[in-house]
Amino acid sequence: MLKVTGIETFYDKIQALKGISLEVEQGKIVTILGANGAGKTTTMKTIAGLLKPKKGKIEFLGEDITGLRPDQLLKKGIALVPEGRAILSSMTVYENLEMGAYQRNDKEVEQDIENVMKLFPILKERKTQLAGTLSGGQQQMLAIARAILSKPKLLLLDEPSMGLAPLIVTAIFKIIKEIKESGTTVLLVEQNAKQALKIADYGYVLETGKVIISGNAEDLLEDSRIVEAYLGKK
Ligand code: ATP
Repeated sequence: MLKVTGIETFYDKIQALKGISLEVEQGKIVTILGANGAGKTTTMKTIAGLLKPKKGKIEFLGEDITGLRPDQLLKKGIALVPEGRAILSSMTVYENLEMGAYQRNDKEVEQDIENVMKLFPILKERKTQLAGTLSGGQQQMLAIARAILSKPKLLLLDEPSMGLAPLIVTAIFKIIKEIKESGTTVLLVEQNAKQALKIADYGYVLETGKVIISGNAEDLLEDSRIVEAYLGKK
C-alpha cells in the first residue's frame, strides 16, 4: 500500500535520513522504532508531506506521492496524527471531531461521529467541553478520533503514547488495534517498543537515519538485539 524507497531528508545541511526504505501492507500495523534522534519523526513527517526528501520516492497505492502536501495526501486517504496532538484547544470536543471530517462531502458525518464516540466513550461524555481542558490522554484520543473521521485508508500515528500514564497508554494501544480491525492500515512511530510490537504485524528499527533491523513483530519481540537495546533485559 505504502512503499518508501531510499528517502533522504535534511534539516539545512544536517542529514537526518540516510536512505530509508520501508513498506506498509494493506490491513496491517507497521511500527517504526528507535532511540531518541534516530529519525523516526523525520521519517513520519517526510511521508506525511511536512518535509520534502532530497532523494528517494514515496508511493501510495502505486502512485508517486513524493513531495505532495498534507492536504493533498488527506484527499488520497493518508491522515497524520502528529507528535504533540495539535488539537484545537479553544473549540469543543465535538467541533474538533467535525473538523476531522471537513474535507468530506457525504452525509454520514454525524453518524460517523456517533460511531467514533463509541470507540472513545470519554469523548462522548465530554463532547461540549473545550478540547484544551482535556487531560493529555483524552487529547490524544481526540486527535486519533479526529483523524479517523477523515476516513483514511492509511493512518500515520507519531508517538501516540508520549507523555501518557501507563494505563492510558494501554488504552491507546488497544484502540489502535481496534482501528486496524475496522479496516484501516496503520503506520505507528513509537518509543514504547514492547507495546508497539505487541500490536504490530511488522517493525522497522532506525538508528542514525538508517533502518538497522526489520522483521515480523513477533520475531522482533524475541530478537536479542532488540530485547537488549529497547525492551530492557528480561
Ligand atoms: P524523537 O523520539 O526524539 O522524536 P526521532 O527518532 O523521531 O527522535 P528525529 O526527531 O526524526 O528523531 O530526529 C532525527 C535527527 O534529526 C536528529 O539527529 C535530530 O537532532 C535532527 N533534527 C530533528 N529535527 C531537527 C530540526 N528541526 N533541525 C535540525 N535538526 C533536527
